[in-house]
Amino acid sequence: MTCIQIPGGVICVPPTFKPGDQAPEGYLAWHEWAEKQHKAGLRQKECGRCGKWRYPQELSDTVDSYRAQTKRGTEVIRFTAVCHKCAVPSNAMYTAKPAI
Ligand SMILES: [Zn+2]
Repeated sequence: MTCIQIPGGVICVPPTFKPGDQAPEGYLAWHEWAEKQHKAGLRQKECGRCGKWRYPQELSDTVDSYRAQTKRGTEVIRFTAVCHKCAVPSNAMYTAKPAI
């Protein structure tokens, strides 16, 4: 939200988000952005690694798969989406941490 100081107060103008825009920083801005995404028909999917719900533009092309069993013992393969933050290669995450 952009706020402008005027004599006697402050005027705040909400930013205009478009469907498909990347998520902004900040709590209120995020909720305004999310409302736009939802009204445009975009729906969140759960990231299979961190468990957070993300809109499609926040998900990477990476898809995890794992084997699971149904109640009857049939083996099935499940697919889960992976968000951009989790899709960082494990080597890059490891080297990004301080050495000590
Ligand atoms: Zn994630």
